[in-house]
Amino acid sequence: MTSHPQLGDEPAAPPGAEAPTRALIERLQAIVGNEHVIVHPHQLKVYESDGLLQYAQRPRAVALPGSTAEVSEVVRACHEHEVPWVARGSGSGLSGGALPVEDGVLVSLTRMNRILDVDLANQRVVCQPGVTNIAISEAVGPEFFYPPDPSSQIVCSIGGNVAENSGGAHCFKYGFTTNYVCGLQVVLHDGTVVRLGGKELEHPGYDVIGAFVGSEGTLGVATEITVRVIPSPEAVRTLVAFFPTPRAAGEVVSDIVTGGVVPGAIEMMDNLTIRASNQMAGAGWPEDVGAALVVELDGAESECDTQFERVQAICSRHDAVDIQVAGSPDERALMWKMRKAAFPAMGRISPHYYVQDGVIPRSKLPEVLDRIDELAARYGLPVGNVFHAGDGNLHPLVCYDERVEGEAERAEELAGEIIVACVEAGGSITGEHGVGVDKKRYMSKMFSEADLEAFQKLRCAFDPTGRTNPGKVMPTPRLCGEVPGPYREHPLERAGLAERF
Ligand SMILES: Cc1cc2nc3c(=O)[nH]c(=O)nc-3n(C[C@H](O)[C@H](O)[C@H](O)COP(=O)(O)OP(=O)(O)OC[C@H]3O[C@@H](n4cnc5c(N)ncnc54)[C@H](O)[C@@H]3O)c2cc1C
Repeated sequence: MTSHPQLGDEPAAPPGAEAPTRALIERLQAIVGNEHVIVHPHQLKVYESDGLLQYAQRPRAVALPGSTAEVSEVVRACHEHEVPWVARGSGSGLSGGALPVEDGVLVSLTRMNRILDVDLANQRVVCQPGVTNIAISEAVGPEFFYPPDPSSQIVCSIGGNVAENSGGAHCFKYGFTTNYVCGLQVVLHDGTVVRLGGKELEHPGYDVIGAFVGSEGTLGVATEITVRVIPSPEAVRTLVAFFPTPRAAGEVVSDIVTGGVVPGAIEMMDNLTIRASNQMAGAGWPEDVGAALVVELDGAESECDTQFERVQAICSRHDAVDIQVAGSPDERALMWKMRKAAFPAMGRISPHYYVQDGVIPRSKLPEVLDRIDELAARYGLPVGNVFHAGDGNLHPLVCYDERVEGEAERAEELAGEIIVACVEAGGSITGEHGVGVDKKRYMSKMFSEADLEAFQKLRCAFDPTGRTNPGKVMPTPRLCGEVPGPYREHPLERAGLAERF
C-alpha cells in the first residue's frame, strides 16, 4: 500500500533550511509538539496576512502554544536565537498588525481559547487570549454583557482586542476595550511572565495596563485577560432612519448628541454600503436614499421610551424619508446584520476595496463627508462610507479593481488623502483598527519627534531587543540603545526593520 505524504507529516524544518533555523524549529517542536509547529509553505500561506490583504509576508514558522508556559518557552527560544516574533489572534486586524516578519516566528494563540473563570458576583471574566469577543457576552448573558463589540466580534480574539484597544458600535456610550480590562498576564520579550493588575479596578502606581492596551503586540503577548462585564440594560429600542444625503444624516447625529441623548449606538451607512449589505443581509432597505442611520437607545424602560420619541422627532425634522422601528428581537438583529455585514458585503459590488479608519470631531462630519465625495470624484473611484457616527469614527471603503493598471495605487493614495483630511479636521489617523504597518507612515502627521521618542522609550522599557512585533507602529523604528562591544549589525537592521541613529 502506498502512503501519501500528509501536510502534517512535515520534516523538522523546510528542506534546505540553515542549521540555526533547523535548531530553532526543533526547539519549538519540542515545546509545543510537532503538530503545533507549521513550516509547510502551503500551510504558512494562511498566515501571510491579516485582514489587510494588501500586505503579505511568509514567516519562517508558526508556533501554536497551548498554555502560558508554552508561550513563555516559545518566546524564550526566539529570544535566545535572536529571531523576531509576532503574536497573532484571529488575524482579523485591518492594519497589518499581525503581519509576520520575514524569517520570524508567528505565535498563534488560537489554541488558547478557554474561558477560565466567570465571576458574576464581582462582574469579572478571566479568559485566555484566543477566546472570541462574542464568547464573553455569551458566557455571561443574558443578565450581563461585555460592551466593546467590534463588527468582527464573532471571530476576533480578546487578545487582539486588547492589543488594538478595539471599539465597536456600542463604544460611544460604553467606552472601549481599555475601559474594561483590569488584569493581564503578559509574556515579555525574553519569555518572562508578569502579572499586571487583577480583578480590582484601581491599582497604585503607573497605569501599565493602560500602556499595554492598544500597544499592538509590540510590548509582549497577553496570555490571560481579566475583563469587566456589566448588567444588561432593562430595555433596548432600535430604529433605522433613511435620509436623502449623508450630510442630513450627519446633522441628525449632531442634534441627537447635543440634545443630551446618549444613544447606546449610532451608526451611519451611505447609499453604496446599503446596496452592498442588502445583497448580503437581505433586509431590503431602500436603495434610492443617501444614507441610513441605525440608532439604538438602551437603559431604564421609561427613560428609553421618552428619548426614543425625541430621536424620532429629530429624524423627522431633518426630512427623514422613512423611519423603521424594530418591533421584535429578530427585526433588531436584522438591522444589526445589515450594519455588521457592510465590510464583507462590499466584496459583492467591488472586486477589491481598501478599508480606511480615521476619526474626526463629530461636529465636522458633514464637511469631511463632502471632502471624501470630492476626493472620490477626483480619483474616479467609488468610496462607501460606514461608520460609528457617534464617535466620529469613519470607515471609508475605497473600491478598486486590481486588474486595472494603476487602480490599486490610486486607491491607496486616495485612502491616504482621506486620512490627511481627518487629521486636518482635528481628528486622528486611526479610530480602532490600529497603526500596524499600514498607518505608521502617518504617525509623524500627528506626533512630534519628541512624542515619538517618548513612545520609543516606553517600548524599549518593555523590550530592549526590539524583536517583539518589529516594524509596526513607529514610523522609523530605532534600536534601544547601543550594544556594548564592537559593532555588530542587529538582525532588525539586516532585515531593514530598524536603523541606528
Ligand atoms: C469585517 C471586520 C470588521 C471589523 N470591525 C471592527 C470594529 O468594529 N471595531 C474594531 O475595533 N475593529 C474591527 N475590526 C478589526 C479587527 O477585528 C480588530 O482589530 C480585532 O481586535 C483584531 O483581533 P484579532 O484577534 O483578529 O487580532 P489579530 O489581527 O490577530 O492581531 C491584531 C494585533 O494584535 C496583536 N495581538 C494579537 N493577539 C495578541 C495577544 N494575545 N497579545 C498581544 N498582542 C496580540 C497582533 O500582534 C496584532 O498586532 C474589523 C475587522 C473586520 C475584518
